Amino acid sequence: MDCAEECQNEDRAQAKSGTPDRVPVRSSPLPELTFTFIWARMTIRPILIHPDPRLKTVAAPVGEITEEIRTLAEDMLQTMYDAPGIGLAAPQIGRSIRLLVMDCVKEEGATPRPLVLVDPEITWSSEEAATYEEGCLSIPDQYADVTRPAEVEVTWTDLEGKPQTERFTGLWATCVQHEIDHLDGKLFIDYLKPLKRQMITRKMAKLKRERARA
Ligand SMILES: [Zn+2]
Repeated sequence: MDCAEECQNEDRAQAKSGTPDRVPVRSSPLPELTFTFIWARMTIRPILIHPDPRLKTVAAPVGEITEEIRTLAEDMLQTMYDAPGIGLAAPQIGRSIRLLVMDCVKEEGATPRPLVLVDPEITWSSEEAATYEEGCLSIPDQYADVTRPAEVEVTWTDLEGKPQTERFTGLWATCVQHEIDHLDGKLFIDYLKPLKRQMITRKMAKLKRERARA
């Protein structure tokens, strides 16, 4: 979830507490320099706020991994860490393609694990369900419980063009499902009762009007 997809109060507190624990750490000097250089040329991109028709559109497959896609993925990671959030999907920055980034490592001092998923697909979902309090970078400061499969297996292509498969659990499982929903034009509030969804949508519309005036 992008989201500040953050989930759960504890996660939310962590995500809002600042970013130092999210700065990537590399062991040898050369990769550190290389990584720092790559990091430095990243750009923070504006995140679309709901309601926006671009957040309700089914995104197109990425297909070939070009240099533009790699740059976009780097920018998305930077934008996600800066927000801060634990996941971000390309439609949230106005690109209707099936690309998402996430990093659900949140323990103090833990090594970050930035993941870039190109054309991800859920190939298996557990019968067991889990409920997290979700949020979304496109729906600032609004949180609600959402129940989803507790575990999912996801296949995707990495930035080297290699196929990857992983079974996600816990917060990672919730996050990857929330992000893949974005690729299908679906938001976490779509799981809520209509009245609650409409209330949040009205608040967001008001927020956008206020920001436009500012
Ligand atoms: Zn989201």
